Amino acid sequence: MKIEIAKISPDGSPFVGDEPAEILDLEGDKFAHADGPVSYELDVRKLGSELIVKGRLSAPVKLLCGRCGDFFSTTLEVSSFLHAYEISVGQEELDLAPDIREDVLLELPAFPKCSWQGEGVCPFSGVDVSELKLPEVTTTDDRWTALDGLKPGPEKKKTEKKAGKA
Ligand SMILES: [Zn+2]
Repeated sequence: MKIEIAKISPDGSPFVGDEPAEILDLEGDKFAHADGPVSYELDVRKLGSELIVKGRLSAPVKLLCGRCGDFFSTTLEVSSFLHAYEISVGQEELDLAPDIREDVLLELPAFPKCSWQGEGVCPFSGVDVSELKLPEVTTTDDRWTALDGLKPGPEKKKTEKKAGKA
């Protein structure tokens, strides 16, 4: 999404519209698919040699539900998109696409779950959850168990010096 710098009013210019879903670059992603255009409501303002861009983004996506194992629809909302860009002399355009993509993807939940919380057949996926035998979730963080196997190095004995009184 490119902004023409010459068109920016010093009082701020609104940019409202949609960008194609491809801006998110989610093709081939196993856990998230873009599900429609990314809409934006931005205010762009020139402040000295900087452009300040702030506003909101909204991106419909399909995420893989960690519970029933199928995709469900949701919307990633960025409520406070705020970036400042240093504009060099002679620069005509500013491309917001990389920051739009990054900010939207930051809103991806770490453990996506569809809104269905019941038992039986999930209305989103048709999967009968009661038939699924999910492995028990352990709370152990694997990253640290590797460290447990490490032997501690030779401990240095600390000798405490006490200021003894004669
Ligand atoms: Zn689900």
